[in-house]
This record gives sequence, C-alpha cells and structure tokens, in this order.
Amino acid sequence: MVSRLVFVCVLACLALAGCASRPPSDLQAVKTAYGPMVDKQSILGRDQAGDRDGDSPFAALPNAPGRRSFGALAGRTLTVSSISEIRLADKEVILTFDDGPIPGKTDMVLATLREFGVKATFLMVGQMAANYPAIAKRVVAQGHSIGGHTYNHANLANTAFSQALTDIANGNAAVARVTGVPVGFFRFPYLADTGALRQAAAARDLVILDADIDSKDYFKLSPETLATNTMAKVRAKRKGIILMHDIHGRTAAMLPLLLSQLRAGGYKVVALQHRRSRMPEAMVSAGAAETGVRRL
Ligand SMILES: [Zn+2]
Repeated sequence: MVSRLVFVCVLACLALAGCASRPPSDLQAVKTAYGPMVDKQSILGRDQAGDRDGDSPFAALPNAPGRRSFGALAGRTLTVSSISEIRLADKEVILTFDDGPIPGKTDMVLATLREFGVKATFLMVGQMAANYPAIAKRVVAQGHSIGGHTYNHANLANTAFSQALTDIANGNAAVARVTGVPVGFFRFPYLADTGALRQAAAARDLVILDADIDSKDYFKLSPETLATNTMAKVRAKRKGIILMHDIHGRTAAMLPLLLSQLRAGGYKVVALQHRRSRMPEAMVSAGAAETGVRRL
C-alpha cells in the first residue's frame, strides 16, 4: 500500500513537473499540452495487468514483426568515459529512454529492443528504480546501459547547487543499489543544466548525456506521428542521440515503427556503454534468472 501511494505521488509530481526531459524554453507549451495526459488509473491498472512474463507486446500489433526480419539495425558498441568520446558516424543513432522504469511500458520497450536486436541507454529516476527494482535489473540483464536522472526528477537549474549535487548522487546511488551496476551516465531532467553542475558532474566521472533528437513523446500524439516526426529529425541531422521516455504507452507503441524506419533507411543503432559500468558475466546470468519473476 505504501509503495502504491509513493508511486501515485511520483506520478502526480511527474505530471505537475511536465515529466519529460526537454529544454526549458519548451516548458510552458509542454505544461499546457502535457498536464492532462497522465491518467494514473489507466497507468496503474494496465501496467499491473501487463507485467507478466510471456505476454507478447506484439500480440496486439497488426503485422507483428518476426524475429527473423531483423538484425541489420544493430551497429557497433561505443564504450566511453567522457562526453568527447561520444562521436557518431553518419547514419548512426543512440537510443535513450528517460524517467522509468515502470511496469508494462518499460517491458514493452525491452521486448521491442530485443526483437530488433539493438541496445539502448535508460536514464532512470532513482525513486522509480527503487519502486520497481525487478524491471531495473531486467534492463541491465538484457545488456542495456543505464544512467541516473536524479532521485525525483527535480529541475536542477532551479535547485540550490549543493542540493542539486545531493539529488544527483542520491538518484545515482538508488539506481546503482538496485541494479548492482555503477552509474556512469547522467542526464539532466528537462535538459535543464548549469555550467557549474555540468563541471561538478564531470569531476565526479559522470558522462552527461545530452540529446540531439527529441522525439517529443511527452506530447499526446499518435505513435505513427511520433515515429514520422522523429524520423524527419533523424534524416535532417543524419545522426545523433534520440531522446524518448519509457513511461509512455505511445512511446512503447511507436518504437517498432521507428526502428523499422531506421532499419529501412540504412541507419545503425550504436550501443553506448560506460567504461566503468560494464557488468561481470556472473551478474548478467543472475539478472537473466531474475527475469522469471512474474509480478513486482
Ligand atoms: Zn525526464
């Protein structure tokens, strides 16, 4: 009951704050568009019901993709320990998902990534990882990299410097505690950073993950429109880090469309890893066994 209350509280906070990572300049427009979108009841109900291993997220999709259809989308693995090392070649993209993990939707995202044979980076909110440890571990066990996103999705640009550092550290510690993996990446909520905080984070060996291509999946658009809009930005920039949020059902529904279009366009999904976050094989095995858990 307590965890349910905490979760509802988190959702309310996220809804009030706009929840998505985006430049501060978008805040007012997003507040208007985003405010009414979070339906706590439907999220709680559907996610709880959908969090069963064995449920195929593709079952409801027409023309469900077959496993054999894919394989050409996966690109190289890029292992870094600084921002300057994140250099992409033409037609290379990195997939990132913020604000989770959350039952149901994160699982659907994971299933799609597995079907397409590609890896992503999940920037987790500390409190969400603490609430849903099994999903957080599953993300790691399936070979994706992780990072921090503060403990409670605070806007750090509006937070006192020392408090902001504490929030970053607490968020990273929660994610590391749950997953057993050191957190090497960090993304500022709302992409709201300051020079001093970036410098302080870098001094703590955190690689700040910025975003080049904003899917704007925090707007209530159809999965088809989101995929089309995102692909238009990918084509214009030809490469970059794509920002998405695994807390949205429309993002989970959009992902197969986006990956299909990336593959058709000859793009490669680069797997981003932090040099000090790579897991021992034993931990991968332990995490894989954990995916047998049916309910959280
Ligand atoms: Zn966020």
